[in-house]
Amino acid sequence: MPRGCAASRLRKPAGPCIGGAMPTPLMPIPGHIDPVPLPREVTPREDGRVDLIGLSRAAITEVFAAAGLDPRAAKLRAKQVFHWIYHRGVIEFDAMTDIAKTMRPWLTERFVIGRPAIVEAQASTDGTRKWLLRTADNHDFEMVFIPDADRGTLCVSSQVGCTLNCRFCHTGTMRLVRNLTPGEIVGQVMLARDALGEWPKAGGTMAGLDDDVEDETDDAAQAYSADGRLLTNIVMMGMGEPLYNFDNVRDALKVVMDGDGLALSKRRITLSTSGVVPLMARAGDEIGVNLAVSLHAVSKDVRDEIVPINRKFGIEELLEACAAYPGASNARRITFEYVMLKDKNDSDADARELVRLLKHYKLPAKVNLIPFNPWPGAPYECSTPERIRRFSDIVFEAGISAPVRTPRGRDIDAACGQLKTAAERKSRAELDRLAEEKQAALG
Ligand code: SAH
Ligand code: SF4
Repeated sequence: MPRGCAASRLRKPAGPCIGGAMPTPLMPIPGHIDPVPLPREVTPREDGRVDLIGLSRAAITEVFAAAGLDPRAAKLRAKQVFHWIYHRGVIEFDAMTDIAKTMRPWLTERFVIGRPAIVEAQASTDGTRKWLLRTADNHDFEMVFIPDADRGTLCVSSQVGCTLNCRFCHTGTMRLVRNLTPGEIVGQVMLARDALGEWPKAGGTMAGLDDDVEDETDDAAQAYSADGRLLTNIVMMGMGEPLYNFDNVRDALKVVMDGDGLALSKRRITLSTSGVVPLMARAGDEIGVNLAVSLHAVSKDVRDEIVPINRKFGIEELLEACAAYPGASNARRITFEYVMLKDKNDSDADARELVRLLKHYKLPAKVNLIPFNPWPGAPYECSTPERIRRFSDIVFEAGISAPVRTPRGRDIDAACGQLKTAAERKSRAELDRLAEEKQAALG
């Protein structure tokens, strides 16, 4: 299937300032070869209120101070509100029982605690759930929850679409792209907790500033902990390349990891990158979560074709950056993702070269073999189960763990690389219809 390059379609210069309107601020998000200028942030809310979701304690303190609280009150209020938002999942200031009743309308007038809107929720026969979400400025993106016997993993998106064009990935064919804000990234985790009913019901109020509060204690809620939760892990493996939205992903994950907030341990969070080498060390230092790398091929030719960012940052450079990744050790291995494409990257020789490379760079590695998930018009097929088994055996026999990932949620297009929003699908269907009409008109 001929594929246009999303990056080239988007590579337009910033337009002139028309009719005195302010030009849209642009930020360069790298495409697979060159930066792609895109709208920087979201449109502000029409009602002028500030959405607190995604903000750190320090940032909430700042917006409270800017709204007129004195520094001490701003700091204390921020501590209380942070706890209510992220630890308790509260979306109304009125429910914040340790804040004076007289103070709550002041907050409600100036601030909101938002969530991305849910456009559609789907459930797979295997228990996987997928949500189509919409930003306040009408961009659609997706989030997936994958329940297992011993864990529940939320697959979180970092961008709407992706500026890279990995040839086997459906998201890579999307045109529309904007970075998700920290609020939209944290908002996905909040929404999942809402949907799974995982917020404590009551109690746990903090020592505050006010007498005018409801007295509420509940031992069960005080004891609320990570044990027994459905959502235990997060993978940054939804739409987008998280390292091309570095600041927002970092800020969002810091909120997710905060002990007084969502309190997920960095050991339960994995960031997957297609290989943005210059930002990998910073990811280790500033975020410190587990690293997964979308390797997918062991030769320059094949990786250049299927993961085009390889033309910019080659395999050797990538593996050197992995070897230097802060925090990687035998106890915390780097995951190398390898999509199994029939007759493309799945030979015995490929498996042996993979082993050689991982050993050459002395990488504390595990390999995740992903059967290719098909999508309409995809230019590849999945390797046969026998081929995948043989590939896995070769890597295992060399002493490197190489399990085959069971595809999840394929019936609702929720599996790896199948994410592409309904809005986009519709516009593609529309394009197909127009192409057919044109063909018919030509006779
Ligand atoms: N952009 C990041 C994270 C999102 S993709 C990255 O590329 O790493 C999450 C994983 O799904 C990546 O390893 C990606 O290569 C893989 N993937 C993409 N399309 C796929 C498909 N059609 N079948 C199987 N895996 C796919
Ligand atoms: Fe983007 Fe990852 Fe898909 Fe590549 S595999 S196009 S980097 S989302």
